[in-house]
Amino acid sequence: MRRSYGWRGALVAAAFAGAVWDATPARAEIVTRLPTAERVVALTFDACEARAPATLDRRIVDLLAARGVPYTVFMGGRFARDNAAEVAALARDPRVEIENHSWSHPRDMRTLDDAGVTAEVVKAEIEIFTVTGRRTTLFRFPGGNADARTVGVVEGLGYRVVHWRWPEGDPDPHVSARALVRQTLTRTRPGDVLIFHINGRGVHTADALPQVLDGLTAQGYRFVLLSDPAVGVRARHSSASTAMRTRSVRAPSGKA
Ligand SMILES: [Zn+2]
Repeated sequence: MRRSYGWRGALVAAAFAGAVWDATPARAEIVTRLPTAERVVALTFDACEARAPATLDRRIVDLLAARGVPYTVFMGGRFARDNAAEVAALARDPRVEIENHSWSHPRDMRTLDDAGVTAEVVKAEIEIFTVTGRRTTLFRFPGGNADARTVGVVEGLGYRVVHWRWPEGDPDPHVSARALVRQTLTRTRPGDVLIFHINGRGVHTADALPQVLDGLTAQGYRFVLLSDPAVGVRARHSSASTAMRTRSVRAPSGKA
């Protein structure tokens, strides 16, 4: 058992005190691209951790930092907990956006009831906030497995759900760096949300990225955060009352 959840809940509840709860009704909408015709693309990376430990892919982090490219990481709560120092360092880079990818990366969150979905989202939010001091407002379902009910639950927590228009498939070792480059340069359209992995599961991702960046730039694309104020995904609200949410979360076990 690593640490208790109670004091963290209290800490975050205090930090969020006074936040305004926005009762905008859920739309059950999965965002798959940015709402723009501009030649922009959002680079996103999943940092999932299910049962096996996962770590941050330093080659990708260093490459994107060296090039000054902004990107979004959809992070699991367990991943944030188990890589706290590196994640805190990552969060100090304003070009990096950190968003919510559930606590334990269940294979299919459609199998969870509403309370279970809520617990996955809120536990991850609290962990990421504790490690980075940042509040998450976007959510990506593990494996993209979602339906109107589960999306509605997540939206009810103040989130927008962001997936992708087409998958890179970079956890597949058979998808070579050349294939990643080729498919990206042929399939990408304005406003696309590209999905790679930054948790060591992107087998050839770091090898492909330099050519992906160069090729898209040559095609006239620039890279933006999902939350870009001009062309990005509009959050449902700036912040929500985590204190209110945590009341509906089941008491998690210490070792989760
Ligand atoms: Zn994932």
